[in-house]
Amino acid sequence: MRIAIGGLHIESSEFSAYRSSFEDFRVLEGEGIVERYGIYAPEVGDAIEIVPLIHARALPGGPVTREFFDAWGAQFFGLLDEALSEGGVDGVLLYVHGAASVIGMDDPEGWIVARVREMVGPEVPIACAMDLHGNVSDQLFDAADYLTCYRTAPHVDEAETEMRAFRALVRLVEERPHLHRAKVDIPILLPGEKTSTQVEPGASLYGMLERVIAEHGVWDASIWMGYPWADQPRCHGAIVTEGTRAKEVEAAAREIAEAYWGARHEFAFVGPTEHEEPAIAAALASSAHPFFLSDMGDNPGAGGFDDTTGFLRKLHEAYRAAGSEKHVAFASVYVPKPAVRAAGGEGDDGGTGAGTGAVMEMPFEALPMLLGRELTFVLPHGFELTATVVRTFVDAMGGEGVVLADGNFKVLITQARTQFSTARQFENAGIELGEEDIVVVKMGYLEPELSAAAADWIMVLTPGAVDQDLVRLPYEHLTHPSPPSTDSTSRSPRRSAWCEAMGGCVVRGRAHRKSTCGEAFIEEGI
Ligand SMILES: [Zn+2]
Repeated sequence: MRIAIGGLHIESSEFSAYRSSFEDFRVLEGEGIVERYGIYAPEVGDAIEIVPLIHARALPGGPVTREFFDAWGAQFFGLLDEALSEGGVDGVLLYVHGAASVIGMDDPEGWIVARVREMVGPEVPIACAMDLHGNVSDQLFDAADYLTCYRTAPHVDEAETEMRAFRALVRLVEERPHLHRAKVDIPILLPGEKTSTQVEPGASLYGMLERVIAEHGVWDASIWMGYPWADQPRCHGAIVTEGTRAKEVEAAAREIAEAYWGARHEFAFVGPTEHEEPAIAAALASSAHPFFLSDMGDNPGAGGFDDTTGFLRKLHEAYRAAGSEKHVAFASVYVPKPAVRAAGGEGDDGGTGAGTGAVMEMPFEALPMLLGRELTFVLPHGFELTATVVRTFVDAMGGEGVVLADGNFKVLITQARTQFSTARQFENAGIELGEEDIVVVKMGYLEPELSAAAADWIMVLTPGAVDQDLVRLPYEHLTHPSPPSTDSTSRSPRRSAWCEAMGGCVVRGRAHRKSTCGEAFIEEGI
């Protein structure tokens, strides 16, 4: 049995100015694929030959460039073509995230799988293992035979999911069953910070899958939450069930859909959440330390650029206005090319000497020579900070880094995108969490060590590429708006107008039957 394996794995925000390309992807091919995915083969049978295509995986980022996508595609489809003409393939296994945004495309994963289908023909089964934060378009559903995704967030069942897809594909090849499938589109779109499976209602919703699968005797039942940081028709929740008995497949899908829809008002942020000003005021007034603030809109772990300074600017202004002397560590800002402003020359600024000099870029390597000097740094998005260079460090992901200090207010800058997620990473940059009053990180919910260190914490609804306040995002192409009720606390006029344009809460999918919110609808399986 010859199983071709490959894929593309990235979640990328369409609202990010960052572009994900060659340097962002770790590419597996040849033996790399056999080693990485071949571990599942012995469990499903000895007679399996893995035909490696190409698999590319990147950290969350911005839209994928066409240059990278086309180069990936040329190799991927070229290898598949070769395999088909030299011995053929019995099945295709794809490891895809489901939330790749590619410049100029609406549905990259659907397009990829449809093209694979065209090449292999209707008889060769195609299975996909996905991330539950991905999307399931009609194109993807129609082109594949079997789709499954993670059942945990944070994701701790990646290997199980990969194994499940592998096993199902082999079964499809061996048994040639007539597999019935159902897809339910759920008109809900939620940020990941509201859908952890460690808290309700995510815990119960994903927790019901095993029981439903057993009770209905289906092959699989999976729930996708969808990806909110792309403006594509496919972005919304989805349920897919598969099995050999049509009635059971449909009943299983309906049962999960009803539970999902029934819980729609219960999804809430996993921690205390505030907009910028009240969050800053609370942190400055609090006696708890360290007080953590999550700059959520720029979380690189979900696709943020890691370079926004809007929240930094507001926090710094409020800090100065309050005459605060609290110890603050802002971690961090991605600054590919540090720049400083030379002191203004006499006469060109009326003698004030402020901010009128030329801006000079300087390589990171030059910064250690500036230790102890006070300079005006021109950070991304025009934020200028007059600060002393107090320390340099090297971060595993962020590369060269520098700590800038304006009194007790410290800002960490790094030459590559990174996320300060462990105490050790802070220590490496010379920051002891226990000595700080306020620590700002670019993430959503706190990673375990930071959570343990935090005396208090607010998840701040900052703007950015992964803005958690979804109603602020300039969507135009969603076909399934999230019900306004999930956003009732912060609905914007824009969203109201949009809902009205959609005919109240009426959801009209392209190829779907019309449906109103409150009623899920079933698509016929193939
Ligand atoms: Zn995910």
